[in-house]
Amino acid sequence: MKTVYPFLCFAVLIAAPLKLLGQPAPVRWEYQHPQMGTLFRLVLYAADSVQASEAARAAFRRIDSLNAILSDYLPDSELSVLSDHSDWAEVSPALEQVLRKAQEIASQTDGAFDITIGPLSRLWRRASRQGIFPDSLELAAAREKVGYQNLLIQPDKPLVKLLLPGMRLDAGGIAKGFAVDEAMAVLRSHGLPVALVDGGGDLLAGEAPPGKEGWEIEVVGDTVLVVTNRAVATSGAAYRHLDWQGRRYSHIIGPKEGLGVLHGKQVTVVAPSCMLADALATALSVEPGLETRLKAIYQDSSFRMGQAGEK
Ligand code: ADP
Ligand code: MG
Repeated sequence: MKTVYPFLCFAVLIAAPLKLLGQPAPVRWEYQHPQMGTLFRLVLYAADSVQASEAARAAFRRIDSLNAILSDYLPDSELSVLSDHSDWAEVSPALEQVLRKAQEIASQTDGAFDITIGPLSRLWRRASRQGIFPDSLELAAAREKVGYQNLLIQPDKPLVKLLLPGMRLDAGGIAKGFAVDEAMAVLRSHGLPVALVDGGGDLLAGEAPPGKEGWEIEVVGDTVLVVTNRAVATSGAAYRHLDWQGRRYSHIIGPKEGLGVLHGKQVTVVAPSCMLADALATALSVEPGLETRLKAIYQDSSFRMGQAGEK
């Protein structure tokens, strides 16, 4: 008895703080899921695999449902059906949120970001698939149908109207960022705020991983940013483009000229939400000169303009 008793005390002392701490130390889990033409990746810290995989599945389900709403490749997505419509139409909360943010950024960038880019992006997608510069008459006709001022949203109701026949919405410059934000919200609602959601390079970092200052993100020019609760998005001509007569036209289009942008610079935006970072990166790819104005509007964001050809 004399020898066992002190040992028991010791065991109780050790066990008490462990029990007070509650759960075992969180472990890193990683999941991947192809969607929206890219690979979504989740990195999260959770105590056990059941909690981690349930949260990841729910986050990926949310991304799938947003694709079904926002894709302009799917003819029956809510966005495509809306593009076919000429009268006022009621939209879902997700589509309303994306359209309102798109319109806000369109007016802040004088239309460099324009979600009504659809007729031009269709033309340029075909051009880049076929390797042929778009026909000038088709270009002129498409340009006439692009203009964010012709997309109306009622201020206090989720009602939307496209004013011109032949208008098409394309959320390709903002939807991925929104999906990243929403996936993070799902992880948080599952009690997992220590997470990173990466939508093929457009990403949102949550709380810092255990023992770290933040998430390490590599951006333009091999710079490494250490971030928590921030989004990082990059745009540029790197992946999809048309090479024609010695020039490289990006899949990002200048709405006024109707041409794929030529400078080939990469733009990285760090912002509080990935939807904002995604759309601002697209806008700055069209019009790098907007940097000063956007800095004044978004003082909690930062912008990095890469050199031509930089990854
Ligand atoms: P990525 O999808 O390569 O990350 P972006 O986020 O910049 O690049 O989005 C580019 C996509 O946005 C294009 O493929 C097209 O669907 C759409 N888009 C092209 N030009 C514009 C523009 N000026 N404004 C808004 N969206 C655009
Ligand atoms: Mg973008």
